[in-house]
Amino acid sequence: MTMDVVWHPACRLHQAGAGHPERPERIAAVWEALRAPALAAVVEWVEAAPAPREALERVHPPRYLDALEALATRGGGPLDADTFMGPRTWEAALASAGVALGAVERGIARGTAFGTTRPPGHHALADRAMGFCFLSNVAIAARHAQQLGKAQVLIVDWDVHHGNGTQAIVEQDASVRFVSMHQYPWYPGTGAADERGVGNVFNVPRPPGLPRAVYVHDLLAAVDAALDGWRPDIVLVSAGFDSLAGDPLGGFTLEPEDLAHCATELRRRAGRAPVVAMLEGGYRLDLLAAGAVALARALA
Ligand SMILES: [Zn+2]
Repeated sequence: MTMDVVWHPACRLHQAGAGHPERPERIAAVWEALRAPALAAVVEWVEAAPAPREALERVHPPRYLDALEALATRGGGPLDADTFMGPRTWEAALASAGVALGAVERGIARGTAFGTTRPPGHHALADRAMGFCFLSNVAIAARHAQQLGKAQVLIVDWDVHHGNGTQAIVEQDASVRFVSMHQYPWYPGTGAADERGVGNVFNVPRPPGLPRAVYVHDLLAAVDAALDGWRPDIVLVSAGFDSLAGDPLGGFTLEPEDLAHCATELRRRAGRAPVVAMLEGGYRLDLLAAGAVALARALA
């Protein structure tokens, strides 16, 4: 079976500044890995359109979107201590959100899809950029899926950092369930187990350095808790690869095959619901490449 990899060339145009870990080489490494001859029978490439304004406004206030665009037009500048806009960041952010939208559409059509989104999105709040993120790709994707008739959305976030932005956007909305496993305490400081939203938030805060099987077990147990008496119409995965052993921004011990196993188990639990992954973090290029390949094989 093949699987659609959704992409947009403008995702590499965002420049956060010299030495910044969220660099264009990240997405280039993912694309290069997925273009390997060994994956030619697995991957179908689909170029997305940039996200239309109306899709963004389902999540972000117009004033915030205007401010981001205006800042890029002025050449860019800082938005928080580690989140910087360059002159082409807005173009990249629209492309990234467009990739998320396209991945939802391809996932609904094909059963699975992998959106290679950059910049990432899971730290972005509705009205504030933070943690290398500008637009909430996965929340924008969730609202798009709902527009397309997928009323109940499960979001599973295995990035090593808490998906605080995603949680903040969906935590009062019982039509979306959010599972996040993350290092804790760690950036951004949120994600305690007692943050439950309206009963739709399932946080799995864990220390670094545990045996890798513990992380896998605990993530899937939280997914099972989220699925207890509730069936999603689509599953979205915030696939960060900074939860892999050796990432410079995290201390988890997962291997690429562990994330592939999690993806396979999500597909099994999803039944006939599509499973759509989108890229979040991951800051060592070789791990990012290995993780993306393992995930693509699991989704194909
Ligand atoms: Zn992360």
